[in-house]
Amino acid sequence: MASISEFDLIEEYFAGQIVASYGVNLGIGDDCALLTVPQSKQLAVSIDTMIGGVHFPKNADPELIAERAVRVAVSDLAAMGADPLWMTLSLTLPAAESHWLAGFSRGLFKAAEEFNLSLVGGDTTRGPLAVAIQVHGSVDPGQAMLRSQARVGDIIFVTGSLGDGAAALAVIKKELDVGKSAFSYFMSQYYTPRIWIREAHALSEVSRCAIDISDGLLADLGHICKASGVGAVVEAERLPISEPLRKLAEPDAALAWALTGGDDYQICFTVAPQQLQALEELRERHRLDITAIGEIVRGNECVCLSNGRIVECDNLGYKHF
Ligand SMILES: [Mg+2]
Repeated sequence: MASISEFDLIEEYFAGQIVASYGVNLGIGDDCALLTVPQSKQLAVSIDTMIGGVHFPKNADPELIAERAVRVAVSDLAAMGADPLWMTLSLTLPAAESHWLAGFSRGLFKAAEEFNLSLVGGDTTRGPLAVAIQVHGSVDPGQAMLRSQARVGDIIFVTGSLGDGAAALAVIKKELDVGKSAFSYFMSQYYTPRIWIREAHALSEVSRCAIDISDGLLADLGHICKASGVGAVVEAERLPISEPLRKLAEPDAALAWALTGGDDYQICFTVAPQQLQALEELRERHRLDITAIGEIVRGNECVCLSNGRIVECDNLGYKHF
């Protein structure tokens, strides 16, 4: 197969498609993009790297690899309550294969359009398959939800349901045998997880502290506890578990995935008691799918109680492929 130059790659697959977004004075094609940050906003910046064979199967559909990479990167903007603006892409490929690139760019722009995110620059190199996406977003000064802002007495909430990401990984790795409809449910949970960008923006009106769940609830809530100098107690019986996961796994396995499995990309956030009424109004106005799961307490430990007893988890979060 003929390899094409870096310049051709970028031109052919990435430069042609423009997603309208704020403030792109100069996009792909020069040494740098030139961007105008919306007036009186802060820029929120985050980067995620995904390695083939570690964060996704090497032989996965390139369209899905791209969609997942963008969505996972955007999830970090959601965690701060930021609005997406721009992204840059670093793509490392063993070979420049046009069919693969066509699929990848299709997935990339599909996700970009969903989040109104412009691709403003990129870099392609030859090497083992890896995708790094940097996202830029905007947020009102002082409005970003920070890991350091949980306070004793705050109520802990999560969006959506927990454990599907880890169950999906087991399904993809064929550790679990599931029927056709469950298979497609978990495939979409893994490759095109719902990203709570608009909802998180709304939540930033009443929450000062949030994180997206990429490494597992206890691990990520642990990051909040460490940054805020507090402890957390969540109740096993209150954790939202999806219907497909209930059908797939025994209650203990579903609970373990909900607590320690990664890749859920739900938003875990805390709300002060005096903001609960305002949250209730937001919930109704935006039809938010959120569940109260526990409380911020004194101390420095993050634990899950089931009928008053601590649930022991031997591996806290994050699994490699
Ligand atoms: Mg994150």
